[in-house]
Amino acid sequence: MPKRSGGVAVDLNQQPLASLRGVGPSMAEKLAARGLLTLQDLWLHLPRQYEDRTALTAIRALQPGVAAQVEGKVEAVERGFRYRPMLRVAISDEARGTLVLRFFHFRAQQVAQFAPGARVRAYGTPRPGQHGLEMVHPSYRILGEGEHALGDALDPVYPEIEGIGPANLRKLIGLALERLPDAEALELLPADARAALRLPSLREALLTLHRPPRDADVVALQTGVHPAQRRLALEELLAHQLSLRRQRIALQQQGARALRGKGRLVERLRKSLPFALTGAQERVYAQVREDLSQPKPMLRLVQGDVGSGKTVVAAMAALLAVEADKQAALMAPTELLAEQHLNNLKAWLEPLDVRVCWLAGKVTGRARAKALDEVASGEAQVVVGTHALMQEGVAFHDLALAIIDEQHRFGVHQRLALRDKGQHDAVPHQLVMTATPIPRTLAMSAYADLDVSAIDELPPGRTPVTTIALAAERRPELIERISKACAEGRQAYWVCTLIDDSDEVVAQAAQSTFEALTLALPEVRIGLVHGRQKAAEKQATMRAFKQGELGLLVATTVIEVGVDVPNASLMVIENAERLGLAQLHQLRGRVGRGSAASSCVLLYQSPLSAMARERLDTLRRTNDGFEIAEKDLQLRGPGELLGTRQTGLAAFRLADLARDADLLPRVHALADRLLQESPGVADAIVRRWVGGAARYASA
Ligand code: ADP
Ligand code: MG
Repeated sequence: MPKRSGGVAVDLNQQPLASLRGVGPSMAEKLAARGLLTLQDLWLHLPRQYEDRTALTAIRALQPGVAAQVEGKVEAVERGFRYRPMLRVAISDEARGTLVLRFFHFRAQQVAQFAPGARVRAYGTPRPGQHGLEMVHPSYRILGEGEHALGDALDPVYPEIEGIGPANLRKLIGLALERLPDAEALELLPADARAALRLPSLREALLTLHRPPRDADVVALQTGVHPAQRRLALEELLAHQLSLRRQRIALQQQGARALRGKGRLVERLRKSLPFALTGAQERVYAQVREDLSQPKPMLRLVQGDVGSGKTVVAAMAALLAVEADKQAALMAPTELLAEQHLNNLKAWLEPLDVRVCWLAGKVTGRARAKALDEVASGEAQVVVGTHALMQEGVAFHDLALAIIDEQHRFGVHQRLALRDKGQHDAVPHQLVMTATPIPRTLAMSAYADLDVSAIDELPPGRTPVTTIALAAERRPELIERISKACAEGRQAYWVCTLIDDSDEVVAQAAQSTFEALTLALPEVRIGLVHGRQKAAEKQATMRAFKQGELGLLVATTVIEVGVDVPNASLMVIENAERLGLAQLHQLRGRVGRGSAASSCVLLYQSPLSAMARERLDTLRRTNDGFEIAEKDLQLRGPGELLGTRQTGLAAFRLADLARDADLLPRVHALADRLLQESPGVADAIVRRWVGGAARYASA
């Protein structure tokens, strides 16, 4: 019988993986590299997908986007090289359907296996390719002579762990499951909460997910809505909620500098601005000022659509710190964005004799030593930079306010790292700014530790962006249009995106688009920015574009946040069907910043899936970030894997804030109740899911 202590299940975090048969030091190390330290970590290493090996689908009956198992004979093999090595294997089945299997990573030995005539059984998700359907990197097996038997279960597919083959990993997880305690000892959720939602015990849920019975609801499992998955999602969401709330409670028990100046500097800034603040900016600034006047740390998130004018509010907050003889820091997720902030803040604050200092990763050697000195002595009153600000060795003289832009790019723990830059007896106030509007329920989950305010009004005089969707075949018309716009002195962006979003591949695609457009538009000066360039090169190009020396800027999504060139009034987004609503909206926000009528052209590859069509329609219909966010939540149903990267909310093991949104009200209520009635259980839940330092460090 497992031991129990104080009514709380024994903390299974205590059982190290090395206690498992077959796990030696080298294996333990590989597991630890992925944050897997305890038996429980393995139990919670859940399949990312299930492959239904119990049936074969005729190739002709395949549907794009629907995973299936097929079998066929190798007809032709082609090795090629486009942006990188590629292997294409055409197979056909008895009903004369043909399908291409495509590989980008492969060994010579694999190529040899695909001898013409060899029988292959492959499992994957077919997509439209150049010549009919294709599967990219399917899992496959070459069948032996006379081999026919089908699998008799749903095969769990686990997230890979480097250095441990899939078969081995499965065996390990099997061994770990043998040590699963009985249901009662494992359970942390109150029975009535589970009963109300008709959810299984944790033990039952884990067993179902690792070893789905033959008659399990495959579709539910594959889409993540099986009761066993919901059961785990509920507990995981609860763990995050509890952890954020406790961080907030802990933080607010610490002191902060009460900033109670008269706002002299802010008044001088206002007078120097060529515009008046909007009502929404005034309201949010008043909230921030009130927070800052308290002797406990402000923890505030400011949401505001792209172009709503968050930066100036941040500048005003920074001035309140400066007026009190303290420092403020502004951290942005990319160098490009940080540099824009630097330029803005310098233009606004230096005339007020405020010293603004720059600190990014690329600042090295003497310049870095000088910057660090200024930060440490307090000479630097406002410090702007990237995550380099949080590094060790960066010591502030007296940091009273940390401003973090585009929060969703940083993890919660990164945000907390800046907090540690305060003086020992006070933590900095935190102001977090994001342009990703998040529906209220989600905000409550993602930012349970923050107060939320919204700049829900755009500065006057903006002309809304007209958005159209255009099939890729109509590119020539578009090029014509760009030529005309540039001839009229307008500027345009051409944004390249790809399905495969490794930096390198996207950079290459941007490069070839750049070359093609240079040929097609000889009269237009064209620039190129992508993530693989040196910062100096990127910045020089951005500057040239901003100064109007370039008519057209070909870019990857590096320009997604923060870029501000009011004269740019046309944007083309390639492969728009591949992007999520939030990201498209962000990108589009780069135009419509000046007085000229702006447009955004969403280029898509036909045929469009129903989901993609709705996304594009939504963008055509509205410019309202909050409306788009609601739609995003509603649309991002199962199967559309556009999730966390764009919303960038906490990295969950299995919960999905969009898919599991209906659980959130219950999660919030449960969190209240546990914090009140059973703090010990709350602790155990947090430890189980959010875990120790190891997970934080690697997340
Ligand atoms: P975001 O909220 O996307 O960060 P910015 O702070 O970059 O927006 O502001 C976008 C542009 O609008 C900037 O050029 C800024 O100077 C300008 N701006 C900010 N507030 C106002 C205002 N109240 N009236 C007019 N222009 C404004
Ligand atoms: Mg901004």
